[in-house]
Amino acid sequence: MRALINRFLQNVRFYRSLKFRIFIIVLLIGIIPSVIVRLMMINSYKNRAMGQKTAEVTNQSAIVAAHLARTDYLSDMNNPVIDDELTQLSNLYDGRFLVIDDSYKVIKDTYGKSQGRYIVSSEVISCMNGSRNMSSFDEVNNYLEITVPILDEVTGKVYGALVASASTDGIRDNVELLGRRAYTLEVIISVVVMLIAYALSATLLRPFDKIIKAVSSVREGFDPGLEAIEVPDYTETKDIMDAFHHLMSRMKEVDDSREEFVANVSHELKTPLASMKVLSDSLIQSGDAVDAETYREFMVDIAAEVDRENKVINDLLSLVKLDGNETAQLNLATCDISAMLQQILKTLTPLAQKDGVELLYEEKAHVEADVDEVKLSLAIMNLVENAIKYNKEEGWVKVTLDIDVQFMVITVSDSGIGIPEESIGRIYDRFYRVDKSHSREIGGTGLGLSITRNAILLHRGAIKAASIAGEGTTFTVKIPLEADV
Ligand code: ADP
Repeated sequence: MRALINRFLQNVRFYRSLKFRIFIIVLLIGIIPSVIVRLMMINSYKNRAMGQKTAEVTNQSAIVAAHLARTDYLSDMNNPVIDDELTQLSNLYDGRFLVIDDSYKVIKDTYGKSQGRYIVSSEVISCMNGSRNMSSFDEVNNYLEITVPILDEVTGKVYGALVASASTDGIRDNVELLGRRAYTLEVIISVVVMLIAYALSATLLRPFDKIIKAVSSVREGFDPGLEAIEVPDYTETKDIMDAFHHLMSRMKEVDDSREEFVANVSHELKTPLASMKVLSDSLIQSGDAVDAETYREFMVDIAAEVDRENKVINDLLSLVKLDGNETAQLNLATCDISAMLQQILKTLTPLAQKDGVELLYEEKAHVEADVDEVKLSLAIMNLVENAIKYNKEEGWVKVTLDIDVQFMVITVSDSGIGIPEESIGRIYDRFYRVDKSHSREIGGTGLGLSITRNAILLHRGAIKAASIAGEGTTFTVKIPLEADV
């Protein structure tokens, strides 16, 4: 049953609302003290009134008991003064006085009912045995009962006991009246507190309503005017909105860069097509006037453009495969990195020889690591290829392999043209080239370094470039030796 109630509460929307909770908390903080004060006030009044009444009746009873002892009332009851006194007192306290002799017999009852009966209550027995005043309270009938011994003050001899009952109806009536007033006051306080709690919960949470409105408006489509929405009421709402704006501008950035990427892709794919179109058009227009040699030359150019187109498409496909999304999976296996690097250098030797660039390899430590050989090989190959392509006559490219704690470190340095400082932050951008026409001339697509970087990041590694324009460039790649699962 409890679990059921809990589940119900969990699912009820208003119970989960912060507004509702603030309302309840303020309400409880306001009402609980007023209930406690009411109860304490009534209780303390009751105790005080009862204490006073007990003291008063006890005093009076003791005086009468002393009187009874002195006048020897128990042996000679013919004493109208005492009778009068007892009647007056019982009227005063709206109660009753019983005089009991040492044989526990009631010899005088102001009500006249119990005269001649025996009363053997524990209080009476105690008094007979020398106890002082006793008091008890009958909650049900609202009676206070006081028992005092009748004794000789000099000898201490007990002649009997005086039992006084006094009505506490007056106190009860007062308590009830007080309770009613306090209750009315409490209801008024509760209503006021409820109103305050409602107003407070509504105003305190108003800024959050603004946030909800702002976020909902985004759901219906990106709103460029959104940055204008600020909720500075609280530090928290300001932080939420700042984070939200940050997220939105990030989304916009992604959106923009996607657009730019599509524009770049189309441009890159269109350029070779445009060249081919120009080449083929001029062949068509020239008609029969073209000799076989020119034909051949034009066809060679067209074939070169087809190769370019192919390269761009292949690079784009590699990039998509490595683009940090769930399709980019690493096929990890222990791999001899030294052998892998040597294989890369071997593959690129013809290219280096063509440009007259010397390839050097230095192994400072033998390395075996858990990597995706195909992807890492592609990454390093791009770096070495760039180092050869952007080199000078008689230049060199040096690849080193080392271990640094839990990482392997591969550096690719060259004696090439270098990268200007202002471009170094952008070389990993897709389609970015420092010198567009030069890069195109030597067959670059501007995608090589993005492919490299993505492959290295997939391995949880890092890549860093240092370069001095005109002197050369060094790329440093760090990759963990063990892939953490
Ligand atoms: P690309 O296909 O044009 O070579 P990359 O992404 O591989 O594209 O490189 C981006 C740009 O960075 C290149 O166009 C080139 O300007 C510059 N770059 C890359 N590597 C080097 C290097 N080793 N020396 C000088 N410039 C380099």
